[in-house]
Amino acid sequence: SERLSRREDHSKIGVSFEFFPPKTAEAEVSLWASIGKLLPLAPRFVSVTYGAGGSTRERTHQTVTRLVRETETPPAAHLTCVAATREEIDDVARAYWEAGVRHIVALRGDPPAGIGAHYEPHPGGYAYSNDLVAGLKDIAGFEVSVAAYPEKHPESPSIDADIDALKAKVDAGADRAITQFFFDNDTYERYVERVRKAGIEIPIVPGIVPVHSFKAVSNFASRAGASVPAWLAQRFDGLEDDPATRQLVASAVAAEQVLDLVDRGITDFHFYTMNRADLVYAICHLLGLRPKVEEAA
Ligand code: FAD
Repeated sequence: SERLSRREDHSKIGVSFEFFPPKTAEAEVSLWASIGKLLPLAPRFVSVTYGAGGSTRERTHQTVTRLVRETETPPAAHLTCVAATREEIDDVARAYWEAGVRHIVALRGDPPAGIGAHYEPHPGGYAYSNDLVAGLKDIAGFEVSVAAYPEKHPESPSIDADIDALKAKVDAGADRAITQFFFDNDTYERYVERVRKAGIEIPIVPGIVPVHSFKAVSNFASRAGASVPAWLAQRFDGLEDDPATRQLVASAVAAEQVLDLVDRGITDFHFYTMNRADLVYAICHLLGLRPKVEEAA
């Protein structure tokens, strides 16, 4: 079969990295240092998030277009439906196309009041991400990635309703789904089985978050509807004042998760880098990825 295992040749492994646009000059320097460390690993693409309510529109655009100008790696720009008319969003997309960007991560976005607040489509805007996917495909031949939720989106009444929402995005032309992060690989595997039964054939790429800070990740997870298993909390228990050990534990946790997914036949991974190279670089190394000298130069 096509199945790999962690001990075999890893040439089929493909990774992508997600960054957020920097707020300060200092954060920008550190982001580009991380990009400089990770890009020689030859990711399939790198993506740049779009702040809630379009708040980072300019900064996302600047980061993505700098990637186009200064690197060989194809960038993907995240784009959301919230707080903008169709025309405004179409203009942003067209500007990306003109700048040479060929890949958009199309999202609904969260309500301006934050995750969990009631979502109301903008009058004159794209209502849901499936509408945005269709709009983008009308504008130009973008490659479009969308979000998927192995534990369902917090607003979905059930996993089936959530898979229907994913199906609508696929029917609108989505080429790939990237998942919300998760820690239980069985949950992901069961979800992918249900997605396939629903007739969805696009890749469902696992989104992996390295646990730089257990507290920050568990806070975000509870808002985003991702569960944090008790065993994970236990692994970080007692390390609040010991950053060096926390880092070692975080790399062990991520390595365990990713190598187990490889054993289950997964070859593509999307990393939520939090703009840091360290843990992600180490995990990619374990996956068999080595820097390409041309990119490094
Ligand atoms: P959708 O797929 O549109 O759906 C969300 C929910 O709305 C569905 O689960 C369903 O309950 C309901 N729904 C969907 N379609 C319909 C319909 N036709 N009629 C009625 N109800 C419907 N947020 C940002 O602001 N910026 C980012 O850069 C960003 N990047 C992300 C990257 C990834 C990989 C992921 C997983 C999430 C990201 N998010 C980002 C978060 C995302 O915007 C939120 O999770 C948001 O709440 C849902 O977006 P979506 O595209 O998944 O929504």
